[in-house]
Amino acid sequence: MNVILLGPPGAGKGTQAERLGKTFDLVQLSTGDMLREEVRGGTELGKTAKKIMDSGALVPDELIISMISGRIDRVGGKGIILDGFPRTTAQAEALDKMLAEKNLKLDHVIQLKVDEDALVQRLSGRFACAKCGAGYHDTFSPPKTEGVCDRCGATEFSRRSDDNPETVRARLVAYREQTAPILPYYDEKGALKAIDGMGEMDEVFRRIREIVGTVRVS
Ligand code: AMP
Repeated sequence: MNVILLGPPGAGKGTQAERLGKTFDLVQLSTGDMLREEVRGGTELGKTAKKIMDSGALVPDELIISMISGRIDRVGGKGIILDGFPRTTAQAEALDKMLAEKNLKLDHVIQLKVDEDALVQRLSGRFACAKCGAGYHDTFSPPKTEGVCDRCGATEFSRRSDDNPETVRARLVAYREQTAPILPYYDEKGALKAIDGMGEMDEVFRRIREIVGTVRVS
């Protein structure tokens, strides 16, 4: 099964993709995570991407497309969940070509619909355990004991440098202007399924399962 999760930054794509991956034994491919890995590794791509990511704009299509194509090749036959890709029409078209060349088909394109006003607050308050990556939010889901990770007990946390109100607003503009136009692209193919992405994480996951649970898992 190959799935795309679409939605604005902060819609919960990463969280839901991780859960979907564990439940269905799929490989989660997040272009944002890949880019952050490149930044941490200090590679040429990482250096180019860092400035762009901190501004809230999108990294050029050709860099993203070659990065993701290599990763799909290394998945080794498992199904994939794409999280944060495609983000432009050019990327969506390149993905179609890539999948056809690799003899793969797309099963679901799931759009997480969220109230955009809530996103700035959602994104601006989020942080993660520096050791195990468990996600938290200052207001909505702080650790049970302040300063201690619920999952692994670590006491170090990190915040993404692009999760500040100014960059978040620029990321939302990029979503509206460059990513939202790909929704009709998938809708015309009859592949798009929109769900309400607001509410409890478990409830949103249940909505996703209603879609993916109804097809053959290949
Ligand atoms: P994300 O973790 O998905 O929110 O992505 C963080 C940042 O990485 C974005 O704001 C973009 O600058 C960059 N990025 C991630 N995925 C893509 C993509 N598919 N195309 C262009 N830029 C991307």
